[in-house]
Parts: sequence; structure tokens; C-alpha cells
Amino acid sequence: MSGTTHIVGLGVAGLSAAVRLAERGLPVTLYDGAKVAGGRCRSFHDARLDCAIDNGNHLLLSGNRSALSYLDLLGARDELEIQPDARFDFVDLESGERWQVALNRGALPLWLLDREKSIPGVRLRDYASALRFPFASQTATIDGLSKSRTSTRTNGKDMLYQRFWEPMSWAVLNTTPDRASARLMWAVLRETFARGGAACRPMIARRGLSETFVDPALAYLAARKIQPFFNEPLKEIGIEGDRITRLDFAERSVLITPADRVILALPRAQMAKLMPEISVPDGDAAIVNAHFRMQEPLTGAQAVPLLGLVNARTHWIFTRGAIISLTISAADALGLDRLPEEEFLPLLWDEVKVALRLPAEASYAAARLIRERRATFDQSPASVAKRPKTRTAFENLYLAGDWTDTGLPATIEGAIRSGAMAAKAISK
Ligand SMILES: Cc1cc2nc3c(=O)[nH]c(=O)nc-3n(C[C@H](O)[C@H](O)[C@H](O)COP(=O)(O)OP(=O)(O)OC[C@H]3O[C@@H](n4cnc5c(N)ncnc54)[C@H](O)[C@@H]3O)c2cc1C
Repeated sequence: MSGTTHIVGLGVAGLSAAVRLAERGLPVTLYDGAKVAGGRCRSFHDARLDCAIDNGNHLLLSGNRSALSYLDLLGARDELEIQPDARFDFVDLESGERWQVALNRGALPLWLLDREKSIPGVRLRDYASALRFPFASQTATIDGLSKSRTSTRTNGKDMLYQRFWEPMSWAVLNTTPDRASARLMWAVLRETFARGGAACRPMIARRGLSETFVDPALAYLAARKIQPFFNEPLKEIGIEGDRITRLDFAERSVLITPADRVILALPRAQMAKLMPEISVPDGDAAIVNAHFRMQEPLTGAQAVPLLGLVNARTHWIFTRGAIISLTISAADALGLDRLPEEEFLPLLWDEVKVALRLPAEASYAAARLIRERRATFDQSPASVAKRPKTRTAFENLYLAGDWTDTGLPATIEGAIRSGAMAAKAISK
């Protein structure tokens, strides 16, 4: 195959496309508008915390086969800390209850029969609502399929909804369950929970997102003499008939020869601006992360890699060394993305102290709130229906990115798979 593939956008989608093409020995030229690669999946040094933090807390599951295959290609699987078991600790800040969801390894969900391993307040028959998800229509929402008049209630609350569907909707789709696509939720359940505990072991970057997903890809490319161009924002795209003929970056234009191809691995909003003729999902959804740096690394029971919170503003707590990081998903829909940092951090710290059983007088050395307003696209059925395919009406243009039609939600797994799909389509 002759010609070069020009890849614009070096988040994990663009990097995934680049390494897959490089693996096949195909020439690539890479560009990103920022001064570093990684996009939304990267680490950086935070001056206030005086340490490196991730742009957002990222959780993967062992069923994320595209992410694992990408890391295997790069020799970087060890950068992920893969928990030995599919075990998730939870605390309900209203009732004070603590529990563990612990899936057995096989696909037969025996854990549902064991009170010690399943969700308290939920009966076996309540889980029957999950059986509706494989048949979800394109317009179905999680609320539409999960709410049931017959499910077990405590103080009037549907416990399965409150302790499973709602947290899953926030965590997986970054969208409230009244709006979140049930079909996308099923795509994740099918590749993880439905395959049993072996596919549900939590995976978290051991050192940081850049060390795991970005630096090894850049090293893999550098070993093949491929050096990306950074600080090259794409401003305009030249089109003649059904072909891309020119990429106009801020400082220069690149001519696309008849043998060349282009992969645009840009965020949704950039794509909408640059090529209004391509269908893109409607809007974005925010995630807020708070980071607290302690004087000393956490130890013992407080050093939980991951803790889910119910009836709290915080959805998840991650700990790594002396850093406690919180995730609040769907923060805009929940009205939690605009509180001033000085008001919000103390509220969140109070939740941390209860959740991690820290003494009431416990304090932190430094803290930081990060609002990512465009964390993912809005994953409602109407918006999902607008996701474009890898191949476009333009003969030499391919798309990648977590918002393209991978069949998966906007996650690292979805983004990496989208890049692999674009590389595969080009290699055919
Ligand atoms: C706070 C937060 C928490 C998250 N939590 C999780 C999680 O727990 N688990 C999970 O799997 N996923 C999570 N995600 C989602 C995950 O980070 C994304 O799905 C993934 O990183 C998207 O990768 P991408 O390559 O598609 O897009 P991006 O990372 O957005 O990459 C796009 C690239 O294009 C570049 N670019 C933009 N405009 C231009 C231009 N005009 N010209 C040239 N280059 C340009 C950008 O600099 C960027 O490098 C989270 C995201 C956030 C923000």
C-alpha cells in the first residue's frame, strides 16, 4: 500500500490508530494541537499539589480487551494495577451501611445468591430487570428498563436502582439514568458483568495515565522513527469532491496526495466545527475531580484503591500513595459542576473523612478541584444515534474518537477500539 496516513489528534484514539498502522509497517504522520499527547487521558504536574496527577480518575475493567491488547502491543500491561478479584467496596453515607460486591470468576452469576457478595436490600428477583437490557431499543433509557414497581424498597427507595443502576449510569455513561442510553449500558454489561468476575476486575493506572497509555505509545512510534508534530492545531480542511486534499494547520498547510489517507481523531466539538457535514453527537457532559494530598501515604484500610459512595455528592474515591482523588460524574446534570472550589472542597472532604473512616480532625496538605466540562459526549439515545461510522462519505477520510460509533460508551476502551477500527479499515 502506498501513501501516508495523516492522523490528527493524539488522544488514545489517535495513538491507537498510529501504533496499529505502524505495527503493519504503514507510514504515518501525526499531529496534535496541544504540546503533549494524551488528550483527556494524561497526567500532569500540579503545582498546588506539588505532584503528578491524572487529568481525571480513570477506571477500566479486565474485560476491556482493546485496551489490554493495545498495552500488550506496547509492552505496557504492567503499568496497570489489575486487582486480583472483581470486588467493589461501597459505603452508603446516609445509612452508614458498608458492603462489597464480589463477583465469582465464571459467567454464571452465583454471587447474586450470596448475601455477603451482593447488594444489601436487594432480592434475587430484583435483578430480573437486567434481563431487559439485551433487548433494549435504540430509544430506551436506563430508567425506562431498570425501574420496576415490584422491586424491593427500603424507606420507599428502590435499592437496586439506587445501589446499582444509578451509580452504573453515572460511572459508565457519565449521564443520569433518566437520559442515559440503555443500549450503550448493555454494550458494557455484555463485555464485563455478563462474562463474570474474570472480566470485571478493576484496573487502574499504577503510576499515571501518561505512563500507561501515552508514553509507551510514543516510545513504540519513536522506535520506528515516527515523531509526532505538536502545537499543530488543525484550522481548516480542504475538500475537493469526495476527497480531503489539504490540512490547514495554524502555521502551515499539508497537501494530501491521491495515495494519502486522513484519520481525524479529534474531540466531538472540534469535529463539529471543522466539518459540519459530518454527523456528531449533540453535546458534552462534565466530570468533576477533586484531589487531596495528605502529609503521608495512606496505609491499611484507608489505602483502598477504589470505593463507591451512595447517597453522597462523591461517586468514587480512588487512593494512590498520599493522594485521595474523588470523581463526581454527570456533574452538570446533577448541578455539581459550578460550585466554587472553596465551597465545594470542604463538603467533599467531609464525605472523604466518613467514607475512609478518617478522624474528624484529619486534614490534608493541599487540594485541587478540576472541572472537565467536556469529559464525554452526552450519551442519551438521541445523541448516540448521531455517532458517525469509521468510514465516511469522503473516500480518504476515516474517523476515530470515543464519540464515534464503536458501539461502546465514551471510555478509554471505546477510544482505543475506535483507533484500531480506523487502522483496520485503512489496512484492508
Ligand atoms: C475527568 C474524566 C474522567 C474519565 N473517566 C474515565 C474512566 O474512568 N474510564 C474510562 O475508560 N474513560 C474515562 N474517561 C473518558 C476517556 O478519558 C476518554 O474517552 C478518552 O480519553 C478519549 O480519547 P480520544 O482520543 O477519543 O479523545 P481526546 O482525548 O479528546 O483526544 C483528542 C486529541 O485531539 C487534539 N486536538 C483537539 N483539537 C485539535 C485540533 N484542532 N487540531 C489538532 N489536534 C486537536 C487534542 O489535543 C487531543 O490530544 C474520562 C474522561 C475524563 C475527562
